[in-house]
Amino acid sequence: MNVVQKTEATLLKRLHNRLDPMMKGILRDMQSYLPEFEDDVVQSAYNFGLKAHLHQKRYSGEPYFEHCLNVARILADLHMDQTTIVAGLLHDVVEDTPFELEDIRNEFGADVALLVDGVTKISELKFESKELRQAETFRKMLLSMARDVRVIIIKFADRLHNIRTLDHVPERKRPRIARETRDVYAPLAHRFGIASIKWEMEDLSLKHLEPEVYESIASKIKLTRKQREKYISNVSRPIIEEMEKNNMHPQISGRPKSFASIYNKMKKRNRPFEEIYDLLAIRIILDKVEECYYALGIIHSLYNPVYDRFKDYIAMPKINGYQSLHTTVVGPDGKMVEIQIRTKTMHMLAEDGIAAHWKYKHGGSDEDPQIEQSLNWVKDLLERQVSEDAGEFMEDLKIDLFQDEVFLFSPRGDLYKLPANSSPIDFAYAVHTKVGNHCIGAKVNGKIVPLRTTLKSGDQVEIITSQNQRPTQDWLNFVKTSKARHWIKKYIREQHLEQTREIGQEILTRFLKKYQLTEKSPHFQEVIPKLGFSNLESLIIAIGRGEIVTETLVKKIFPDQFVTPPPRAESFFKKYLKRSRDTSGIRVQGLDNMLINFANCCHPVPGDKIIGYLSRGKGVTIHRSDCKNLIYLLEEKQRIIDVEWATDKKQEFVVHLTVVGEDRKNLLRDITDCVSRQNINIVSASFSVEDLYARGNLNVGVKDLNHLTKIISSIKKLPGVFSVERVNEGN
Ligand code: MN
Repeated sequence: MNVVQKTEATLLKRLHNRLDPMMKGILRDMQSYLPEFEDDVVQSAYNFGLKAHLHQKRYSGEPYFEHCLNVARILADLHMDQTTIVAGLLHDVVEDTPFELEDIRNEFGADVALLVDGVTKISELKFESKELRQAETFRKMLLSMARDVRVIIIKFADRLHNIRTLDHVPERKRPRIARETRDVYAPLAHRFGIASIKWEMEDLSLKHLEPEVYESIASKIKLTRKQREKYISNVSRPIIEEMEKNNMHPQISGRPKSFASIYNKMKKRNRPFEEIYDLLAIRIILDKVEECYYALGIIHSLYNPVYDRFKDYIAMPKINGYQSLHTTVVGPDGKMVEIQIRTKTMHMLAEDGIAAHWKYKHGGSDEDPQIEQSLNWVKDLLERQVSEDAGEFMEDLKIDLFQDEVFLFSPRGDLYKLPANSSPIDFAYAVHTKVGNHCIGAKVNGKIVPLRTTLKSGDQVEIITSQNQRPTQDWLNFVKTSKARHWIKKYIREQHLEQTREIGQEILTRFLKKYQLTEKSPHFQEVIPKLGFSNLESLIIAIGRGEIVTETLVKKIFPDQFVTPPPRAESFFKKYLKRSRDTSGIRVQGLDNMLINFANCCHPVPGDKIIGYLSRGKGVTIHRSDCKNLIYLLEEKQRIIDVEWATDKKQEFVVHLTVVGEDRKNLLRDITDCVSRQNINIVSASFSVEDLYARGNLNVGVKDLNHLTKIISSIKKLPGVFSVERVNEGN
């Protein structure tokens, strides 16, 4: 053993000697409520944590691990299960020591790791960050991030011990922690029905946030204690006597009112301490529900009830499961006394809330049907939680979360609130428009994911950008934020305009050259307003869109001198092509008035996968996306445009087919008959004989890919036909 090792060992031993009694206490308690727990597992979590935090100290100077033990202590008081207590011992390991989640998973299994991970993530949230200043938002986020309710309970224990020891924390840090405790954790503890933790959190936050108020209430309570106890026993005595006559044995106690609740009432009712504290409070605890109502009857016969202050939370439990009878009566000397009446079980539930689920689960012998019933809501909730549908889980908790929101983090820890089902693209645009416009990929929690991935609350999202990447039409299919939608559309519009302009310019330049004009020529300049355009730019765009064709320009520029030359004799095929594709049938990036033509190499028909290629002087040429020519075209990637079919039923598309068959009599006639029977136009057909084979070239007009497929298969069925192929002339 070297010196360092020796020091470590000594340190460890000293620490163990100090903390072991506390650990033994926890193990003893667990033994009492959880007889089947695994002593060695909990013990090894203790050893692991002890070593991991060995050199760390709290602000108080105490060993860090003492905090973790205290957290486990609180969890054991709530009778939590073994997994929770082990996770409680280890809750700060990932955040504060070199050990990682993986180490915890390997040593203690996936369940413990899940809880530790949840606690670690929540600890990383900063209440002070801009988006989180709203306590309600923070609470919601916290809940939506916790995949397991036990994460929150550990967090309660953690926070409770931290606020108990807040005196040691540097003064400037105290208000933040106290505010967070008061505004976030105490209300949550209340929602979960854990009154014991709620009160303590509230009182300790008050102590740090308004020390004078706290001190004054504390000293007044102290001063009046004797007097108060005497009064309460005076009020209680006749109640107890009356009930014991009927063989009932109530436990009556003066209910300690929390400082925070006194202070809240003082503020709310704008009354001094004395008046508020005159409201004395008594709690009566009984064995059975019937006894509660019986006690209520006795109390109301002994003292006058205050009108409108009776509440039956036994018949109508509060949302967090709380049950009790509440009444206020006028006691001796005309003082108001608030009385709560409940069974032992109700009391346990009121103090421990959701945590009582575990207490009961491991409670062993007392199979009290009432507890079972009271805890049904918790049970249901926990069972549903297993389905990992956090949304449904929170809904069942009756906590009105914004189900339509997710909370996400940048690698730097900045928080972003986005609509549910948002994608990495939405996140990228939320970070910055530039990040969105150049987003090429994303890592979620360190793993590369597709851009259309749905993000979940708590995800850490890292956006990968590339200067060559641009928004695409496809993104609009899955983005959720209006910001992303806006910028994508804007980009596409601008992009489209740019392309249209380029096409228009191309066409115009060729036109002017042909007629030996320039953009500056007076003849041409004059014609711009005549056509209804305010400037050259808008004319160019109209030409690019195909709204103005060159024939119009000719007629306008040379109304008299020029007679439009008769078109060159066009082949029937060319004419047919022109006619059948008069309307474009294509939408370019969501817009439908671009100058379109169809590639002569691959003759796409609706149903084919297609892409557009911006060719000089020809507008957008539509190719089948498997066209062989595209290999060359793809070299100029910026000219490739997203396109989609937007045909109407009347349109026809010409397809080249090659038919190879036996050189037999009437083959040509059989084929043409077969085609015409299907109501298909044969645009042209020619046959030649090569050796023993006949080869036919057909140009037919079809509506779409389905239509074409039908024709091909029916020609194939003709006797003597060997093959029918759609020709891609790029072949
Ligand atoms: Mn902690």
